[in-house]
Order: sequence, then structure tokens, then C-alpha cells
Amino acid sequence: MAYGKFAEVVLDIPLNKKFHYNIPPSFVNQVEIGKRVKVPFGRRTVVGYCVGLTNISDVKTLKDIIHVIDTTPILSSKMLGVAEWMANFYFCGLGEALESFLPSVVKKGIKSRTINVIRLCKDGISVKEMISTIKKRAPIQARALEALAEVGEITFPELANISKCKMDSVNRLRDRGFITLDKVEVSDPLFAGKHFKKTVHFSSTEEQEVAIRLIKRKVRERKHSVVLLKGVTGSGKTEVYLQAISEVITLGMKAIVLVPEISLTPQTIERFKSRFDRVAVLHSSLTERQRSDQWWDIKNGNADVVVGARSAIFAPLEDVGLIVIDEEHENTFKQDTSPRYNARDVSVVRAAYENAVVVLGSATPSLESFYNTEIGKYECVTLKNRVGHKPLPRVEVIDMRREIFGGKGQKPISDYLELSMKECLSKKEQVLLLLNRRGFSPFISCRRCGFVLKCKRCDISLTYHKKKEAVICHYCFAEEPVPRECPDCCSPGIRFTGFGTERMEELIRARFPQYNLLRMDSDTMRGRDSHEKALSAFRRGDIDILLGTQMIAKGLDFPNVTLVGVLSADTIVNLPDFRASEKTFQLLCQVAGRTGRSAKGGKVIVQTYNPEHYSITYAATHDYDGFAKKELEYRKQLYYPPYGRLARVVLRGKKDLDVKEKASNIAEKLMNAIKLSDGSLLAGLRKDKVGVLGPAPAPIVRVKDNYRWHLIVKADSFKNLHTILKSIENENRNSKKVQMMIDVDPYMLL
Ligand SMILES: [Zn+2]
Ligand SMILES: [Zn+2]
Repeated sequence: MAYGKFAEVVLDIPLNKKFHYNIPPSFVNQVEIGKRVKVPFGRRTVVGYCVGLTNISDVKTLKDIIHVIDTTPILSSKMLGVAEWMANFYFCGLGEALESFLPSVVKKGIKSRTINVIRLCKDGISVKEMISTIKKRAPIQARALEALAEVGEITFPELANISKCKMDSVNRLRDRGFITLDKVEVSDPLFAGKHFKKTVHFSSTEEQEVAIRLIKRKVRERKHSVVLLKGVTGSGKTEVYLQAISEVITLGMKAIVLVPEISLTPQTIERFKSRFDRVAVLHSSLTERQRSDQWWDIKNGNADVVVGARSAIFAPLEDVGLIVIDEEHENTFKQDTSPRYNARDVSVVRAAYENAVVVLGSATPSLESFYNTEIGKYECVTLKNRVGHKPLPRVEVIDMRREIFGGKGQKPISDYLELSMKECLSKKEQVLLLLNRRGFSPFISCRRCGFVLKCKRCDISLTYHKKKEAVICHYCFAEEPVPRECPDCCSPGIRFTGFGTERMEELIRARFPQYNLLRMDSDTMRGRDSHEKALSAFRRGDIDILLGTQMIAKGLDFPNVTLVGVLSADTIVNLPDFRASEKTFQLLCQVAGRTGRSAKGGKVIVQTYNPEHYSITYAATHDYDGFAKKELEYRKQLYYPPYGRLARVVLRGKKDLDVKEKASNIAEKLMNAIKLSDGSLLAGLRKDKVGVLGPAPAPIVRVKDNYRWHLIVKADSFKNLHTILKSIENENRNSKKVQMMIDVDPYMLL
């Protein structure tokens, strides 16, 4: 029932604005806050969300709502609150934020698919008679009847497959009164045919017990709070989550668990399914029907626990008591298209609306979360030891500057790593090798003139992919044939340098021909469950050496892996990104954690050209606190997060000059918001705490034929950052000439 003459409607546009629409008398009983409506906008009809009702509007001629889509509100008032926060915090449209709350399959609705089921409706004797009568005249119908006689009931595609009959034969049999034909709705249940063996609480270690008790107490208090669960790899964080969730369910509440997409494996899901009865899963690899079914199951109150990737933070659960973010430091929780939200931060806001507890789990927490425990905003509980008191693996750092072939350049594999691999493999143990760069050769140049082959549309070196016989841009995915001669000087001396996983695979196969190697990267793992199949093969021991990009660094627990080799620790550390050290440290700790999981122990070998870099030395000693302290000092000096707050504004367009001009124009507006008329700076801040860096060409200047300039806005708090950004809030972000993107709390500065 609409209490108000007009509806406030938001649309999927990058503008935080509510539009007023007139509610025609026929819709008065239907329009409600939280429902979707169809409205005219410009010359189009669009779907919007009703977020408010009012009696007052200063718009003279209001248009009518055309249609009300939902019979009951699809969004709760709490979720509307979360969306408001997102729109204000990330400078996106409220409608844009709401759009990301509903899976696209729910938005478009899914039509039920039906299938023909054929049933025999005569007794066996008369069917036999019939078959012999028609055998000669209608052999296909006879064949179909024979097949049916065996099973009694079958779907048309199956029958067609067995008896090679067509639909017209089936229709004839029906006309003769031998069969019935019914349309039955097809379902595609997610856990069909799967049996989950129930598990009970594992006996927990003393450290786990402390963590569980703390979280349970917080859940019972029903007060919004955040707990950082800082536990080394293999310390049993999942068991802590499971026991905390069990308490939540006992209290009649519900829980959301977010894990990085790549860790959302059948094993992970099984751990939750085997402990709890009503688990829903939201995952991009589900079929559309499954995704839709899972979402509606949650919406209809049929799930106690939702396990999913980033967008599962918007799961339509009521009465949430606990939100768990596993591997909270992962950058996959940050969405890189609008709305550019971080699910970890959204979870804290959602929990505030629900009076719920957030548990952030990680072996290598983000500096932001760690800092929040330092200043007492979050509580911290630590698991220092692995379950069963297995020691963390020994890490050895190899200085690759010393590993040089006699005058022939750099070696990709050090003697020590090669020797260790031999030793490990001869004992029938397994090796994990990390190389965070795919393709064959990441660098293609001319021997004569030094010309470097770059993408024609992006400012990025092309990577040679041998199997595809192509050079590929890893940014825009453009593919080109491999040049036979230098595009610049026409000399035939093209050189392929550097190692990607494809080339490394060739090299290792040649050196270890008697062992099975599997390469795991986004080129080899394209199929829906190729990832899962590869891991099962490795688990069974069919694979001796697993070589892969960072997709092998997470969550895998294989007791027979006794050696982890990091072929190049330097792929991230040199990126122009203030989080480069943090990301390097995290990746090294994560991959090191894949070994030493059994009594056989484990060893990690890290190859690097920066052996003195603190992200590597602290990772080698598993010293998170040491690393965090050092990194925080550096961030404080430069006033980067978590001390200062950043936003990035990127402008892009076809003409460099237009983009540059717009960037200066935006910079001026932002500066005007910082420099007040009396000459002082916003909020009385000093110059090192607030300002605009740039405009400058983005580190990757050109992407897909678009020139890119960027600006970094820095302030002491999100509040002041938002005040500054307000000055460009109403700029047209989708202009044809130059597009603008605002990223608050950015994760990528390229
Ligand atoms: Zn490109
Ligand atoms: Zn050349």
C-alpha cells in the first residue's frame, strides 16, 4: 500500500539521484518500497527500484509508473540502507548499487524449461501384440514401443536416442492410445545425487577454543562487532567458522560466508554441507537455473548458511547473526567495475544494520584490518600454531643475480631448486611451482634495433603463446600472428625473452621427463570443472609436479607436497602500486603454506633478484607482525592507507588531448574543493595530508585504443575525501568524448 502520492525511484545510472513518478490509482495498492517498477525515462522504458514514497514533489509534470514488477518487496529496508551507504561511499548511483544486489538471472527471470515424458498406458500383453502387428508397417514405432516396454516411462530425448524415433512416431503411438505424453518441468538441483556425510565438531586446539568462545559470546550479545581471526596457514580457521556458525543457527539466526572465487571448490562447499543441513551456494559456475533456485531458496527463508563469492554479501537473508570473510586480504573482494565496492567493507556495514558479528579471517591480514585492531576498532584473536603443532616450512631465498649461465644470461631455475626437486620427486613426494606469469615468453623484441612488440591498442608488451602460435595482449586479449620480422626495421632477428608458465612447462618437462607435470593457469583451465579435475588428479598422486600461476597458491591442502618453489618472487614487487610489497608478502606466505602439512615436513625455495626486499625477508621467516610494522611505518611516512585515504579518478577517451584537458579541468575542481578562499586547506589540514596527485598519464597509458589519464585524491579521512569528491559528483561520466571513473579506496593503480 502506497502511503504517498509519488514514488521515489532510482535507476541504473551513475548518478545518485532519486526520480519522482506519479502513482496511478490502479497501482496504489501495489507500489511499495523495495519493489521494482517499470518507468518511462527519456524516450525509453526502464526498470527502477522504488526506494521511497512522498506527497511532495517540486517537479511540475510527473510521469506515471507503467508497471509494478514484484508482488512482494524484493529488497529489505536493511539492504536499502546498505545500498545508500555504498552510493555515498563509492560515489556510484544508488540504482547502480541496487543492480548489483540481484543476480542477473533473478533480474531477467528464468523461464521454466519443460520436457516431454512418455509413459506406457497399456498392459504388457497388448503391447506385445501391438509390436508384432506393426513391426513390418511401422518398424520405428515398434522399436519405440519395445524400448518403452522395458522401462515403462522415459523422456523423449532418451527414447529418441535409444530407438532413433522422431516426435511424429510418438504422436502416432499416442493417437493409437498406447502411450501418454506429458510436459514436465525440468529442474536442475544443485546437490542432486550427492550425499554429504555428516561431520561433528572436531576437537579443537586450545587456540581455536579461545577464538570460538570469543566469537560465540559476541554472537550471543547481538552487538555489531568485528573480529580479526589472524591464523597462520593450516591453523584450522575453517573449524572456528563452523563452530561459530553452529552457535548462530542454534540461536535461530543465519550466517554468510564469503570466500575468494577460486577457493569456492566442491571441497569447501562440502565442509559446510556436511556440517549444516540448509546451506545455499552462490557461485558463478552454477547454471542459471541453479543460481536462480539458490537465490530464491535464500529469499524464501530456506537457507541458514550462504556460502559464496564476493556478491554473496548481498544474499537476501533475514536475521543475519554472523558474516565470515575468509582470506579477507584478497583483492577479489573488490569489484573492478562500478559499483567499485569491497565486499569486506560492505560486510561491516551490513553487519551494523543486522547487529551482527563480522569475522575476518586471514594468515596475512590486509594492513587496513590489522591497523584497525591496533587502534582498538576491531578485536583480534590469533592462531599462532598449525593444527597438530606441525612447524611452518623452512623458507630459503635464492639470489638469482648469482645464477648465471656461462655468459648466456639468466637461469630460470637455480641449481639448488633443481637439486631439491630431484630429491623430493625421488622420494615419491610432490612439488608445487609458482610462476605468476602466463604464456610462453612475456617479452618480444628485435635483436637489431631493440624494438619491443607492444599491443596496437594498449601500452602493453605482447606475450608470445607458443601453442596458439600467436602474440596476445593480456590486457585487451587481442591476438595477432607471430611476427617473422621486426615491424620497425624489417630485420628477421626476433627474440623471445623471459619465462611464462608455458615455456617453463617445456623446460621442466625436458629436465624431468620421467615425471608427470600439470600446468595450471587460465590458459589450461578453461573448462567449467577443469580446475577441480586437475586438483583431484594431483590429490590422487597422478601428478608429480604442479606448475601454475597464483591460482595454485590458495587453500590447497596436500600432505604429500614437500617442496614449494617460487620461480620468481619479483613479478609483483616492482609494480607501481603502493600495495606491491603487501601483495608480494601475502602471495609468498600463501604459497609457502601449501607445504609442511604432514609429518614429512616441507621446504620452500624462493627465487628472486631482490633478496633483501623486506616483503621477501619477512615472508621467509613467517613474520607477519614484523612485516606489518615495517610496512605501516612506510605507509605513515607517505600518508597512504590505512593512514590517509585515497580515491582514484581515471579519464579515458579516443583523443589524448581531450582526455588531458578534461583531466586538468577535473584536477582544478578538486583543488578548488581543497584550497579554501582564505588560502587555508580543507579542514585545516597540512599539505602532506590532503591533495591531488596528477593529473598524469596512467601507468598503462593506452588500453583498447583509449588514452588514459588519472588523478589520485588524498585526504586524512573518508569524510574529507568525500567532501572533495562532491565537487565532481555531477560531472557527466559517460560523455562520448571522455569518460570518467571514480574509484574510492582503489586496489589497482595501473
Ligand atoms: Zn591490448
Ligand atoms: Zn628491428
